[in-house]
Amino acid sequence: MGTVVVDEVVVVDVQRFSLHDGPGIRTTVFLKGCPLRCLWCQNPEAVRRGPEIAVYAERCEHSGRCGEVCPEGAIRLGALARVDFDRCSACGACARECAHDAIRLIGRRVNIDELEGDLLRDLAFFEDSGGGVTFSGGEPMVQAPALGSLLARLSGRGVHTAIETCGLFPWSRMAPLLTSLDLVYFDVKHMDSAVHRRLTGLGNELILANFARLANSPVELVARMPVVPGFNDDEENVRATADLLHTHGLTRIHLLGYHGLGEAKKPHLDSPLAPFHLATMERRDLEKFASRFEERGIDVTIYD
Ligand code: SF4
Ligand code: SF4
Repeated sequence: MGTVVVDEVVVVDVQRFSLHDGPGIRTTVFLKGCPLRCLWCQNPEAVRRGPEIAVYAERCEHSGRCGEVCPEGAIRLGALARVDFDRCSACGACARECAHDAIRLIGRRVNIDELEGDLLRDLAFFEDSGGGVTFSGGEPMVQAPALGSLLARLSGRGVHTAIETCGLFPWSRMAPLLTSLDLVYFDVKHMDSAVHRRLTGLGNELILANFARLANSPVELVARMPVVPGFNDDEENVRATADLLHTHGLTRIHLLGYHGLGEAKKPHLDSPLAPFHLATMERRDLEKFASRFEERGIDVTIYD
């Protein structure tokens, strides 16, 4: 059996000066890999665990350089460049060679020493604003051992740390992180396990068990709900979600209205997710939906 490498993470993106992923000015690190397959996923480029190729064929200028450098013979050059994803090893040679940005490598392996140094460049902003670093995805717990090292290092420098999670992870991966984690944003997508399985590919038993464990931990826990009209906005689910919060002594929820930005990305990827056709949720509809939680004594923060 090979050695498990925990000194690197696969990063989709690093966004600086984010104001919506926790207190203060933050840097948000999007890690790759997710165990769920939500129908409405807005980050389909973060679902697969490793780096992958995205093809923007409409930008192709037919130079043929990508095909010449591909070591796997994975590129067919016709009117437009096409990638045979079954052969592609995501080496990135074609993306580096393309002068027209028609092929892009999504996800890069980054050593955690390098990433720590990069994140600490904004230490002064974090200190001045009460901000810090948030790990998102995908599902950041997929890369838990390396994530744990990063959290410990950042926390050791006094940086506020947060993760955004779908909640599906073995508790044994979360337990060692608790001492270096300040805040967890926890997705509650549907309270009925059978419906949750239909919407995301897996049931919610482990997710709800993890929610309860975090609620009983010293880490600040904030529930988040992606609101997908017609899929999880029914009265029974609102009632059950509010009950979950009350059971654990929580009085607030963050609501994120569905928007269709993820759909534009899927055709460029070898995405495991099917197309999902739904109109972006209007702010006024989200506010109306929020009132159903407020009637139950839950404070709501709306993101749209
Ligand atoms: S990423 Fe590498 S293997 Fe995949 S198509 Fe490009 S050059 Fe070929
Ligand atoms: S949990 Fe998030 S990243 Fe994972 S499939 Fe669902 S929406 Fe996408």
